[in-house]
Amino acid sequence: MTFSQKVKTEILRSVRNAGDCCARSFLIAVLKSAGSLTIGSGGYAFSVESDNVDFLTLIGILAQERLQVKWKISTYNMSAKGTAVYSCKFDASLGEKLGITVRDGDGALVFADVKSLIPTRACCLRAFFQGLFVAAGSVVIPPNGEELADRVKYHLELRFTDNEFASAVAQAYTAAKFRFASRKSQTVLYLKGGELIADFLVYVNATSAKFVLEDVLIMRSIRNNANRQSNCTVANIDKAVAAAARQLQAISELRRKGLFDALPDNLKEIALAREANPEATLEEIADVLHISKSGASHRFAKLEELASK
Ligand SMILES: [Zn+2]
Repeated sequence: MTFSQKVKTEILRSVRNAGDCCARSFLIAVLKSAGSLTIGSGGYAFSVESDNVDFLTLIGILAQERLQVKWKISTYNMSAKGTAVYSCKFDASLGEKLGITVRDGDGALVFADVKSLIPTRACCLRAFFQGLFVAAGSVVIPPNGEELADRVKYHLELRFTDNEFASAVAQAYTAAKFRFASRKSQTVLYLKGGELIADFLVYVNATSAKFVLEDVLIMRSIRNNANRQSNCTVANIDKAVAAAARQLQAISELRRKGLFDALPDNLKEIALAREANPEATLEEIADVLHISKSGASHRFAKLEELASK
């Protein structure tokens, strides 16, 4: 099961017992993002296509239980990948009962203004986003602990064929700003980044999926910290090597200028120790001479100062 499928399964479980107000909002989101209004011999009908029979069965049951609308699932097609695609058909009264379609002055069926479809109650708005994600969403996270993980980005998206509806949806989600993209004839709203996606998963009640994501985030931050620490060690080694090179340079400068023999004993001592141990760290040199690290540092500074005169 992909991560997307896990999130969807979890959402479906939590929607089954939703209140009537929320069930309506869930259905509105599903029909408006993934449904199509068709006209056939029996008049208008709404249909939703999906490869997920559990999803279609749930929306059928919700429509029947809460709105007394009949539904029927049939095998619709085979997708390009060879998986079965099913279609759930509802009679057209569903659109009117949900307020998606309205009758105009002449009695003709028209689509309602998209803004009127965005729920105002907090419970319903959550159900609405649950419906959007199940019907038109997907999420990708890097697989935990895999080498390739860094190349896979955190990405969550909702796809719409109705641009105006997409804009209204983006405005309704206030926890973060959805970004917009267009792909073929679709408008895509998307979120990038583990934290934003984790927030969205919590919002749509996909809590265990959120835990999976958090594990990935934690693994990743441990790995990043380890990288940062080893970068830090490398930087320290570079610094020590550069300092040793500078000191050796100063010592040879003093010798060249004929100043070496006249150096005070403590400086001569540390200069000889450095020449004998060109790759030693400051600490190691200090140990050789049984002096403190800051004492060694002070003597080297003095040597460099004399050499530069
Ligand atoms: Zn509600």
